[in-house]
Amino acid sequence: MNRTIVGVFWLVVYLIVILLPLCIMMVRPTPPERPFWVEFSLALGFIGLVQIAVQFALVARYESVTAPYGIDLILKYHRQIAIVAVLLLVAHPIILVLENPDLVDLLNPFGGTRASRVGNWGLYALILLVLLSVFRKQIKLDYELWRVTHALLGISAIVLAHWHIRLVGHYTGTQWKENVLIVFSVILVASFAYLRLIRPAFMRRVPYKVAEVKPERGETWSFRVTPDGHDGMRFAPGQFAWLKLGDSAYTFEEHPFSFSSSARDDAGIEFSIKELGDFTNTIGSVPPGTTAYLDGPHGSFSPDHQPAAGYVFFAGGVGIAPFISMLRTMADRRDTRPITLFYGDQQWDGVAYRETIEALRARLDLTVVYVLEEPPDGWIGETGFIDAGVLKRHMPHGGVERLHFICGPTAMIDAVEDALRQHGVPMSQIRSERFDLV
Ligand SMILES: Cc1cc2nc3c(=O)[nH]c(=O)nc-3n(C[C@H](O)[C@H](O)[C@H](O)COP(=O)(O)OP(=O)(O)OC[C@H]3O[C@@H](n4cnc5c(N)ncnc54)[C@H](O)[C@@H]3O)c2cc1C
Repeated sequence: MNRTIVGVFWLVVYLIVILLPLCIMMVRPTPPERPFWVEFSLALGFIGLVQIAVQFALVARYESVTAPYGIDLILKYHRQIAIVAVLLLVAHPIILVLENPDLVDLLNPFGGTRASRVGNWGLYALILLVLLSVFRKQIKLDYELWRVTHALLGISAIVLAHWHIRLVGHYTGTQWKENVLIVFSVILVASFAYLRLIRPAFMRRVPYKVAEVKPERGETWSFRVTPDGHDGMRFAPGQFAWLKLGDSAYTFEEHPFSFSSSARDDAGIEFSIKELGDFTNTIGSVPPGTTAYLDGPHGSFSPDHQPAAGYVFFAGGVGIAPFISMLRTMADRRDTRPITLFYGDQQWDGVAYRETIEALRARLDLTVVYVLEEPPDGWIGETGFIDAGVLKRHMPHGGVERLHFICGPTAMIDAVEDALRQHGVPMSQIRSERFDLV
């Protein structure tokens, strides 16, 4: 089915899901009518709660849901809508108190009624969840620890919110309405179980073995795995998989990496992994023969998903990984479409895969522009960052219509998106993939 139609379909499903519980609560018998602002505040509460519950389904990696939008957009939405939902939920008690200031004790986490206390604690769990996500890097919270707190706080918030609704009992006075609300949230929280239990069960049946770990320039490693007793997986160049190492497919620690091998490579799957932290710093010492599990392929950051007459690629550091897969695949397919690659890095010696790229130039219609932050003596190429000036000098003019792909750290992506807009490229012709999720 056409990806736009699928995208619109899921958007409509989303809107129905968000509004359904509210509509159900309005089915008769309904409680006696109350002032407009009281009803309005309850509506905000219901919508906010359902939005939070839907977050579990959004990040459960259902291919059909994420594919039309791409993981970058889904996660951006996940972050933004969580903030909107929390604002709605904060507004819920505040509007009640503004409407009737005698109820001010409802805001007291240790006072008020039992229902208000439970509601308050659910709200604080959510606010803490958002604050930890927004300021994770500033407070130097370890990523893995953040993931655990994120899941625990999310589940606690949903459970406490349900308890709150049950204790208030205003709209759920009828048993069937209460059951609908419970079933609704159980289904959505079950998405979490799907992600942590069912998907790993499938991964267990298709293990991989580490075949080779090879050093590349720029503290990067080519990490090759081969299927162990099965045919492996098919992916589109530019997609990624979550990698788990060790004997258990259920381990909580997993990291996303883009495929960097050709999609036509039947001998195995390669990743390009840069040393950046606890896990990646040890990648070079993983012994061949180690068991690996892959959850993928994911994402739609791929020329296969967005056909165009030509492409412009922008890579920042190890953001080159998905482009290496794209270039290798296009070369294997004898693709003749024109490609310009802008590749920004710190130093010439650390430019990973530059020899591979040079070799690929002979097989593709490929122009490469290196942009170095710290150029060596005698460097006559571009220096600094990929910005509007670099684009002005090297962007292909005229000819075929091209699509623009950007991959790398968030700051680089924002800067290149800005430069492209200044250059007159519409957002509809730009696709981005961020390597730092939170
Ligand atoms: C879609 C996608 C594709 C990626 N492809 C590549 C690639 O091809 N090559 C490559 O070297 N890197 C890639 N990354 C980044 C890579 O996942 C992180 O560098 C790696 O997980 C860091 O883990 P660490 O424990 O070594 O570092 P840490 O110091 O723990 O983390 C460094 C940063 O990496 C991110 N990170 C850490 N752990 C995870 C995790 N479990 N899941 C998601 N993000 C995490 C966080 O933003 C964190 O701030 C990709 C990331 C994404 C989202």
